[in-house]
Amino acid sequence: MKATETQQADLLSLANLDLQISRSKAAIKNLSTGAQFADLREAQRNLAAKLIDARNALDSVDLELKRSETDLELVEQRIAKDEARLNVTKNAKDAQGIQSEMESLARRKSDLEDLELAILDQYEAAKAVFATVSVDKAAIDEELAKGEESNEVEIMKLRSGLDLLTNDRAQQAARISAELIDLYEKKASRGVPIARLVGRECGACRISLGATAFNELESLARDEIATCPECQAILVR
Ligand SMILES: [Zn+2]
Repeated sequence: MKATETQQADLLSLANLDLQISRSKAAIKNLSTGAQFADLREAQRNLAAKLIDARNALDSVDLELKRSETDLELVEQRIAKDEARLNVTKNAKDAQGIQSEMESLARRKSDLEDLELAILDQYEAAKAVFATVSVDKAAIDEELAKGEESNEVEIMKLRSGLDLLTNDRAQQAARISAELIDLYEKKASRGVPIARLVGRECGACRISLGATAFNELESLARDEIATCPECQAILVR
């Protein structure tokens, strides 16, 4: 089949556009999977679980703290009542009983105060853990949201680039005869349809032509379509 050097150059341009189109489509497909965010999403899930644990731990210490405050209040109320009773009693034996109870209440109060201090320490520690995990979680939420947003922007850019390429491709194909397009499409369905001959090397399959094959190619008229004997690509000399 014949094709002028201009027609061969047009076919090369078409192949170049097709290559860009397929690269662009592959990039869009790749970005659309969001696979690049797998690690971040995994970390986000882990932190979400940690945050729930930290919240539960904080709630449970908070409950313990309230319980110990209530216990302490009850003891203080009983001490106050005993003091009032002690002030009004005339009976020495009763007074002795009340005093003995007050002593044991004072010990109980002291124990409860120690316990409350220990729980307060735990509460502060649980609060600090919760705060740290909250900050980490917020940071990863933001990082992921930003990443996904710029990924969307990138995909939109690629899509509009692809629209332009597809337009260019249609215009380029319109310049080429149906017969040549047919040949090109047939070859494209099997591999690289057209490439330059660089020295003795086929630009499509990268195999160097033997001396005989090369001489045959060289002896072909310039407007005769040359084909790589290895990969059947059209070779532009
Ligand atoms: Zn080849």
